[in-house]
Amino acid sequence: MGLSKYFIVPLYAILNLFILFRSHTFIPTTPVSSNQNSVNGTSLSSENSTNHSIMDDYNIPDFVREFVERMVKNGVDDIELMDLLFCGCVVLLGLELISEITLKVARYLRKDHTIPVRGKHLDELSAEDLVFISMNKIATVPFVFMLVKFMYHEPTAHWSLSALTFKNTILPLPAIFIIYDFFYTILHWALHIQSVYGYIHKHHHRQKAPSRGNVDAVNVHPVEFFLGEYNHLLAVYIFTHVLGCQLHIFGMILFLVVGGTLTGLNHSRFDSNIMLFGKSLYDSKWHDVHHRIPQSNYGQYINFWDLIFGTFRVYSSDDRVNTMSQLDPLTGKSYEHAKRSAVKND
Ligand SMILES: [Zn+2]
Ligand SMILES: [Zn+2]
Repeated sequence: MGLSKYFIVPLYAILNLFILFRSHTFIPTTPVSSNQNSVNGTSLSSENSTNHSIMDDYNIPDFVREFVERMVKNGVDDIELMDLLFCGCVVLLGLELISEITLKVARYLRKDHTIPVRGKHLDELSAEDLVFISMNKIATVPFVFMLVKFMYHEPTAHWSLSALTFKNTILPLPAIFIIYDFFYTILHWALHIQSVYGYIHKHHHRQKAPSRGNVDAVNVHPVEFFLGEYNHLLAVYIFTHVLGCQLHIFGMILFLVVGGTLTGLNHSRFDSNIMLFGKSLYDSKWHDVHHRIPQSNYGQYINFWDLIFGTFRVYSSDDRVNTMSQLDPLTGKSYEHAKRSAVKND
């Protein structure tokens, strides 16, 4: 790792700690009890501030109940360090769970539908890869905290179970994904501008045939991860605050979980897609094409904006496949790598 890259580690840590402890600098904190905003005649302040309405809706264990009571008493603006650590562990465990379940389910359902390796597979992760992957995973904690805090103060956000509807949970998802991918497609395209590429995005493209799911997905330069993560907050902000649409906290969680799953599939060898009326809404092969042919398919979840911007490239199953580049299912590494290792050991 070049010496200059080491500087990113403490800087990134400071930035994320700043977000955790000074987030009121970014999100104006209207005292919830005096929040007079209402939607459809229902006072949202009472929904957010009356802890009883939240607590009574859910059948939760005592230790979680105590934790929630403490959180509600202190508010998200004045969270205690131990609570923050507890939440951090929950977020990190959730992230690992999504990654594991995604690969296990895909392996079970799509084991006969894999995408052949065409680019060079990154068989060994370097120290730099491992540092960036760890940093980025940890950085999801302040990001989720910011998102929850935003939802807590956002008048169009719903928290109580009684307010849960199809309209504020499932229906917002396509719109939020379209908003997210608009900014992501532009950001991703900008990261490929030649004068910028070498500093940030080149790290991710060392992998030409992603296979490790979310591990390969978060193996990006921390600056890129930061921009990509907070783009989720931007999408939720535009949907709720700018457009005034209602969103339940479960809808927001669903957005993160579905997003995490699709990103994981984008970086696996499993051929997965979502079809609606015979049209592909999502296809994991699109991002695989991007890893081989970087001037195409900049979108993360959908190809809508690539089609608009003229950067969409169709996956071609006719492209040449080298048998030795394929991955050994036992090791997850290419046969070429095994051959090289065997030669080295002789
Ligand atoms: Zn990628
Ligand atoms: Zn790229």
